[in-house]
Amino acid sequence: QAKALGEGGFQRYRPGMEARANQRVRLAAELAAAVDEEQFVVHYQPVVTLPDGRLTGAEALVRWQHPVRGLLGPGEFVSAAEETGLIVPLGRYVLREATREAAGWDGGRTVAVNVSARQLQREDFPADVAAALRDSGLPAHRLTVEITESTAVGGGATQDTLRELRALGVRIALDDFGTGQSTLSLLASCPVDQIKLDRSFVPGPGPDAIAGAVLQLARALGIEAVAEGVETAHQARRLHELGYTLAQGYHFGRPEPAAGTRIRRAVTGLTSSRTMVGP
Ligand code: C2E
Ligand code: MG
Ligand code: MG
Ligand code: MG
Repeated sequence: QAKALGEGGFQRYRPGMEARANQRVRLAAELAAAVDEEQFVVHYQPVVTLPDGRLTGAEALVRWQHPVRGLLGPGEFVSAAEETGLIVPLGRYVLREATREAAGWDGGRTVAVNVSARQLQREDFPADVAAALRDSGLPAHRLTVEITESTAVGGGATQDTLRELRALGVRIALDDFGTGQSTLSLLASCPVDQIKLDRSFVPGPGPDAIAGAVLQLARALGIEAVAEGVETAHQARRLHELGYTLAQGYHFGRPEPAAGTRIRRAVTGLTSSRTMVGP
């Protein structure tokens, strides 16, 4: 450790260090302005049934329409938004957009919204959700809040919040299931309606045994299971053989803006249920 420090105990200057720090500061400032100006768009990725690919709903995934850098994915800005606290107004925006959008979908289709720890830790989060539901007219059971293990380690306050959300009728999904450090203990202590098998455990990249065991676990607990990141027909077939009835992934559809997506076309009534096939 001491060897990493220069004379006098100061960390020795390394090229790029200052540039990176400046970049972070600039990103934070740009994000604050972007939240004010609502430079964000929400894309929707279909969630479908196996094996027939019927559309059951979609996951809302935020993108930043950056004035210079173009459309940025969450990997480029969500952690900065979490560090600065800007995820709170940004998440509120996504929640508002997604509930308003999904209220217009027919056939009881659901929308899932990703939520960060900073949002869940706020006492007014359930009230925000209730307001978004009321203003959009979306029935609570058609909204799923997706949390990850790191979101949920907030202790008792977070668990109370999850219970309040459930009391509203909102569903809770445990995202990226299997990648966390204590997803099993979380499952035992948190009220959860759905688990999303992380894409690294989808047969192909992962062994069948893990995907199969996660499904058995979900069944034993009376929880719904969704397989994420399904990229090929072969993977979809294997998951179906293992007993999965719900899936999401590039094989079925990429995240897209609401306008022009299958889910919107389904609303306009051209195709009411078998939306995966046909034009
Ligand atoms: P996630 O919630 O696990 O979402 C799934 C991610 O996997 C999305 O990445 C999606 O585009 C990608 N994906 C879907 N199908 C496939 C596939 O077949 N193959 C591969 N390789 N990838 C696939 P995206 O949109 O870049 O989002 C990344 C993460 O950012 C999300 O992971 C979620 O944790 C976070 N995120 C997205 N939107 C929000 C938001 O509104 N709020 C918060 N707090 N986090 C968000
Ligand atoms: Mg998710
Ligand atoms: Mg995931
Ligand atoms: Mg994730």
